[in-house]
Amino acid sequence: RKLVGKLTTGCTEFDEMMGGGIDTQAITELYGEFGSGKTQVAHQLAVNVQLPKEQGGLSGSVVIIDTENTFRPERIKQMVEGLSEKYGQEYDPEEFLKHIHVARAYNSNHQILLVDSAMELANELKDSDMPVRLFIVDSLTAHFRAEYIGRGTLADRQQKLNKHLHGLQKCGDLYNASVIVTNQVMSKPDAFFGDPTKPIGGHIVGHTATFRLYLRKSKGDKRIVKLVDSPNLPDGEAIISVTTPGLRD
Ligand code: ADP
Ligand code: MG
Repeated sequence: RKLVGKLTTGCTEFDEMMGGGIDTQAITELYGEFGSGKTQVAHQLAVNVQLPKEQGGLSGSVVIIDTENTFRPERIKQMVEGLSEKYGQEYDPEEFLKHIHVARAYNSNHQILLVDSAMELANELKDSDMPVRLFIVDSLTAHFRAEYIGRGTLADRQQKLNKHLHGLQKCGDLYNASVIVTNQVMSKPDAFFGDPTKPIGGHIVGHTATFRLYLRKSKGDKRIVKLVDSPNLPDGEAIISVTTPGLRD
């Protein structure tokens, strides 16, 4: 078994809450309402993973399974420019974009299949200078939510989500990579899925994700990140800012 790696969020409090950063060989779930910053955190991690260990990265590349068409190369550019500003050193956005492998998932079955493709790519890059060290599924649950409507298919949906998460856990374990999944919480009562304060996927996602982070909006660009029910870390809260050059304290 390989030593667990730590991926920096670029935010002091956030990293400290996570015991130094986002663990490898684990699934970390970001959940929160629309606009809470889940996709922003995902973009920042796709940048940070490429940094060397001295800067909190994993010297690796990233696979993003994009289910809502929210990946923005332009946003990556801003964040890489933000890094140059932060470290007083030039970073080339095009270099960073080269190591971000984005696959668009058109439905939940396709999304599950893309995990196999991600694994194949990780296998190809295993001995390269930029092995895959981060897998992102943004959003984990959107297709499932849209496709599995009504009570009759809920068990079926949970089973598929569960299988999907196990595939992702395997990616994390095999390649000593971090795995990030996002899950949107409804702001209003949801006719199909009941309790609006709970992310969909309910129990299954809850029990499979090793770390669960609840994001919510605060004043201005501030976001509160709450670590919920961690198996080995104290619950806690961290305040981050989502700014144009990226995530900041
Ligand atoms: P979620 O994925 O949780 O629905 P997002 O991660 O897409 O939410 O967050 C969207 C928010 O991020 C925007 O409302 C804005 O506050 C912030 N944001 C997005 N892009 C930028 C940017 N280029 N500069 C500063 N803030 C941004
Ligand atoms: Mg999003």
